[in-house]
Amino acid sequence: MRPTGPLHVGHLVGALENWVSLQGSYECYFAIVDWHALTTEYSDPSAIRGYVREVALDWLSAGIDAERSTVFVQSAVPEHAELHLLLSMIVPLPWLERVPTYKEQREQLQDKDLNTYGFLGYPLLQAADILAYRAEAVPVGEDQVPHVELCREVARRFNHHYGAVFPEPQALLTPTPRVPGLDGRKMSKSYGNAIFLSESHAAIEDKLLHRMVTDPARKRRHDPGNPDLCPVFDHHEVFSPPSTVEWAAGGCRTAGIGCRDCKQALLERYRERLDPIRERRGLLVSKPGAVDEILRRGAERARASAAETLREVRSAIGIA
Ligand code: SF4
Repeated sequence: MRPTGPLHVGHLVGALENWVSLQGSYECYFAIVDWHALTTEYSDPSAIRGYVREVALDWLSAGIDAERSTVFVQSAVPEHAELHLLLSMIVPLPWLERVPTYKEQREQLQDKDLNTYGFLGYPLLQAADILAYRAEAVPVGEDQVPHVELCREVARRFNHHYGAVFPEPQALLTPTPRVPGLDGRKMSKSYGNAIFLSESHAAIEDKLLHRMVTDPARKRRHDPGNPDLCPVFDHHEVFSPPSTVEWAAGGCRTAGIGCRDCKQALLERYRERLDPIRERRGLLVSKPGAVDEILRRGAERARASAAETLREVRSAIGIA
C-alpha cells in the first residue's frame, strides 16, 4: 500500500479486513511502499515519512498482526531496488507502456509531470516487491489484475532466460464493495470526502449528520425517497446487518423514517466497527517507539527472505 495519506473506511472494507482474515491461511508480507509513493510525489516528498507511520498505525489497529505477518517499509529492504534493476534488463518497454493504469493515471493526474521512468516502471517495481518473496498469491482489486499479470510474464521471462527461480503469482481477487464518499463521489482523501479510521466518533458524527448527502429528491421529511440514489444507503449495505438495511430501504421509500434516523442508525454501526480499532490505536500510541520497533523487526524478517531470493537470482544470472 502506498503511504499517501491516512486510511479511510473504504480501505477497511476493500482491503484491510480481507488481509486480516488472510493471515489465518497464508504466510503474509505487508509492505508500506514508500518508493512507490515517490513516483507521483517526487516533487514534494515531505509528507511521505509521516504517512508511513499513519498507515502502519492504521494497519495494526485494524488487526494486522505483526507477530504472525511480516509488516515492513519498502525502502528498508534495498533488495527490492536491486531486483527491480535486474528485472528492468529483461522487460520489454511495450509491456510497461500497455499497462492500463499507466495511461489512465497520466490523464487523471495532469497537474503532475509523470513523464518519468519511475512512473513507467511502477508496475515493474511492484513485480520486484512480489517476486522478492517468491509470493504465490497477491490480494488485489480488479484494477490491479493487469499488474499481477505483468508480474507473471516477467517471472516467466526471467525463468526462461536464467532457469526456474520464481513461481508465477496468482491474483487473489478481493471484492471491493461500493463505499462512496460524503458527497457521493468515490471516497478519497484528495476529494475531502473521506471518513478516516483514525477519526473520533464525534468527528464522524459531525460528518455523517451534517455533510453526507442523501437522495436529492427527498427534500422534506414526508417526501418518500429512493435509497438506490443515496450514499447513506450504500454505507448501510456495507456496514449494517440485513434487518437494518431492510428497515432503511422500507422506511425511506414510504417516508416512514427521516434521513436523520437513517444516519443515526448508520452511526451506531460505525461505532461498533471502529471502536475496537480506536482502542488498539490508543494502546499503540501510548507506547513510545512501539510502531518503529514493529517496522524494524518486520524489515529484518523481510530482508532475510528477500536476500535469500537475491542470492539465487544473482547466481542464476551468473553475476557476483
Ligand atoms: S432515508 Fe436514508 S436512504 Fe433514504 S434518502 Fe434519507 S438517508 Fe438516504
